[in-house]
Amino acid sequence: AAPQTIPEALRRAAETFGDRPAYIEGDRTVTYTELLDRVERTAEVFINNGACCGDRIVLWGPNSIDWAVTALAVTVAGGVLVPVNSRYVGHEVADVVRRTGAAAVVVHDGFLGRDQLAELREAGVEQTPSSTPRLLSSLRDVVAAADRCEGQAHDGSLGPDSVADILFTSGTTGRSKGAMSSHAQTLGAAAAWAELGGVRADDRYLVVNPFFHSFGYKIGIIVGLLTGATLYPVATFDVAETMRLIERERITVFPGAPTLYQSMISSPDRAGIDLSSLRLAVTGAAVVPVVLIERMRAAAPEGLDIDQVVTAFGMTEAVVVTMCREGDSAETVAGTCGRAIPGMETRIDAPQRSGDGSNEGELLVRGEFVMQGYLDDPEATAQAIDADGWLHTGDVGRLDARGNLTITDRVKDMYICGGFNVYPAEIEQALARLDGVADVAVIGVPDERMGEVGAAYVVRSPGATGEALDESAVRAFAQERLANFKVPRAVRFVEALPRNLGGKVLKTDLREQWN
Ligand code: ATP
Ligand code: MG
Repeated sequence: AAPQTIPEALRRAAETFGDRPAYIEGDRTVTYTELLDRVERTAEVFINNGACCGDRIVLWGPNSIDWAVTALAVTVAGGVLVPVNSRYVGHEVADVVRRTGAAAVVVHDGFLGRDQLAELREAGVEQTPSSTPRLLSSLRDVVAAADRCEGQAHDGSLGPDSVADILFTSGTTGRSKGAMSSHAQTLGAAAAWAELGGVRADDRYLVVNPFFHSFGYKIGIIVGLLTGATLYPVATFDVAETMRLIERERITVFPGAPTLYQSMISSPDRAGIDLSSLRLAVTGAAVVPVVLIERMRAAAPEGLDIDQVVTAFGMTEAVVVTMCREGDSAETVAGTCGRAIPGMETRIDAPQRSGDGSNEGELLVRGEFVMQGYLDDPEATAQAIDADGWLHTGDVGRLDARGNLTITDRVKDMYICGGFNVYPAEIEQALARLDGVADVAVIGVPDERMGEVGAAYVVRSPGATGEALDESAVRAFAQERLANFKVPRAVRFVEALPRNLGGKVLKTDLREQWN
């Protein structure tokens, strides 16, 4: 039978994969047997400090082996993992600590030097009795304390429906919400993903996706436990360094947001680096430009020469919803994010006929991997998940005859130009094909006559000059390919787009910048 809880999955991994490397980081290797040992010792540190059995434990740091060990230790102590964004500053973490009433906070040592701890304290973390952390500790101290422990477990009372983790949404459209998932949900979604992607024990698996996000934690750390693959945690993404790591370690699996591959493709350092070990790339998390998929597959030097490129759709509230399968046609992979994985259903709410004849509307999803709810917010939960169990995603999409999903855009990013609905993602897809465009984002901005018009932010590729790629070139290119009301009225050239660590463009920032 499949493991029912994360600690069970961990013990199973130690039994099954024993001496195989679970993690490699620089010159440090941790086998699956050692992983279990380290995790149990770390769990004892939590237990000794009274943080266990249903307590929430906040973990704040960049990807590392110690992060993974500590995260798993939270579950072995019987606690609930609350990872926070490594880009947060003290008061933002304090907010999470307060909202979750965390019993312990573990902080990456590098963050303590930035006076973050003081900021945490100043922000009142210790002053509210109900949220006073009993243990506020640096990650290094936890590791050192674990060295002196024998190892303990407190997960006996956990069942498949116990809350395993509270992960925060990316905050792309508003304030981040904490999504609570059970052990069964976290394990089940990771297992389905691993199965559909064909991940195996001999895979070398690169995790650039932040561990604090479901794409890094569930589709990284948990997938590792279930498959026996070797994980390579990357703390900060540097294109050249990552490509050299892929070459040196013969990395086989590299899941990531579209921007990761885009930056590899446009990197001047790629020449001469051998990326041929890459077998599987799974991308999603944001609308994936069709042209990017083509370039990921194309043989070097134009592309990355990845054997199998797969797209998927997921969200913090439902980690994996749809995914392509091996054998799907090139068009399915490039034009859709696959169909519902076993255990999940998809539906389009109030579909309306769009330009190309397909029925578009808000995507609703239902099934085993939809979160239990938002943290302490029954109202928001009831708004998101209706009485029939459908989660309203806030994304506009369509389903083809075989159930393959295409995301048009976010409901909130759509704008109305002269009475027509415009989805910026479609314009971005078109402009991504223009030579010299490395990155592009479109937003709707107010206009007296049309209500709203499009504004494009363009990042030029290295080598593209201002004369070759100017506003009129961008508009002319759009004019040839898009209806008039979709052609951006204004174009601004920028060095880079504001993105979060998950690779999503922060359109709220762009809208603010516009004025
Ligand atoms: P917030 O909910 O706080 O505004 P967020 O929605 O960006 O932030 P996540 O849960 O990290 O937080 O992201 C889920 C969203 O990512 C989806 O709702 C969707 O908009 C987008 N997304 C994920 N996969 C895809 C995909 N394959 N194609 C297009 N968009 C995707
Ligand atoms: Mg969301």
